[in-house]
Amino acid sequence: MQPIERALLSLQGLSVGDALGERFFGEASSFLPALLERRVPEGTWSYTDDTEMALSIVESLLEDGGIEADALAQRFAARYNHRRGYGGGAHILLAQLKEGRPWQEVTPFMFGGQGSFGNGTAMRIPPLGAYFAEDLQAVCEHARRSALPTHAHPEATAGAIATAVMAALAWRVGEGETAAPQDLLEEVIRHTPESLVKERLQETLAFQHAHQSSDVAKAVGAGERVSCQDTVPFCLWNAAYHLENYEEAFWTTVSCLGDRDTTCAIVGGIVVLADRSGIPALWQQRREPLPPDIFDIKYAADPRP
Ligand SMILES: [Mg+2]
Repeated sequence: MQPIERALLSLQGLSVGDALGERFFGEASSFLPALLERRVPEGTWSYTDDTEMALSIVESLLEDGGIEADALAQRFAARYNHRRGYGGGAHILLAQLKEGRPWQEVTPFMFGGQGSFGNGTAMRIPPLGAYFAEDLQAVCEHARRSALPTHAHPEATAGAIATAVMAALAWRVGEGETAAPQDLLEEVIRHTPESLVKERLQETLAFQHAHQSSDVAKAVGAGERVSCQDTVPFCLWNAAYHLENYEEAFWTTVSCLGDRDTTCAIVGGIVVLADRSGIPALWQQRREPLPPDIFDIKYAADPRP
C-alpha cells in the first residue's frame, strides 16, 4: 500500500469514528440504550471538525508530500465550515485565517497568549502517522509542523506527536510486527516531548489487559476538558489494547463518553491501520460521504467499498 493509500485508510477509520461517536451525544436517555446494546443509529451520520481538519492534513500529504504550516493554515481556513462543531477558540481563529490574516499573527495570542492546548492537533493527525510510518523522525517533525497553524501551546504539539507515532506503530503491527500494547505505549512515550501528555501516558502503563477502558478514563480523563492532556493518553491506551478489532475499539472508546467524537476519531484513525478491513460496511455507508475532491478527482484508486 502506498503512503497516501495508508493515509486515506486512516481517514476512513477516523471519519467513521468521528461521525458515529458524535451520534452518542445528547440526553443520556436518548443514546444509552443503543450504547449498552451496541446498536448503531439509523440515517446518515454527519462528520464533524475532526474529519474536516483531517481532510486538510490528507490534502497536504497528497499535494505537498508533507506539512508546510502556511499551506496547511490556508487549507484549514478554506475548508472551515462553522457548522462542523468546532470549539469556541477554533471559531475565532479560523474566521480570522479565512479573512486572510497570517496564522503567525493570531495563533500564538489565543487563550491569553498561552496558545491553545485543545485536542484539535491530535484529532486530525492519524493519517499523517500512517503516511510516514517507516520513518518515525519524519512522523514527529511533520506532526510538530501540523500543530503550528492553530495551536501554540507545547501540550498540543506533544499530543500531535504522540498520536501520530501511535498511528505509525499501528500500521507496522498491521504489517506483521509483533509488539505488546505496553511496548507500543513505551515507544510513543520515547518520542513524546516533555509534557503533561507524556506524564499521563506514563500513568497509563499501570493499566494492562485486566483493566477496563473506563479505569484508564477515570485516571487520565476521556476528553472532558477537550485538551490534549486529558484526551490523548486515554485514546492511545485504548487503541494499543484494541488494535486487532476496530468495532471493539469503537465501543470501548465511546462507552467512556467524554469528548466522544474526537476520542472515537483518534482511536478509529489508528486502529484501522492494524485491523484494515475492520470497519463494518454499514458504518461506512452511513457516514456522510467525504468531499469528492479527496477521493474522486485527485486520487483514482478509491478505497471506499
Ligand atoms: Mg468534532
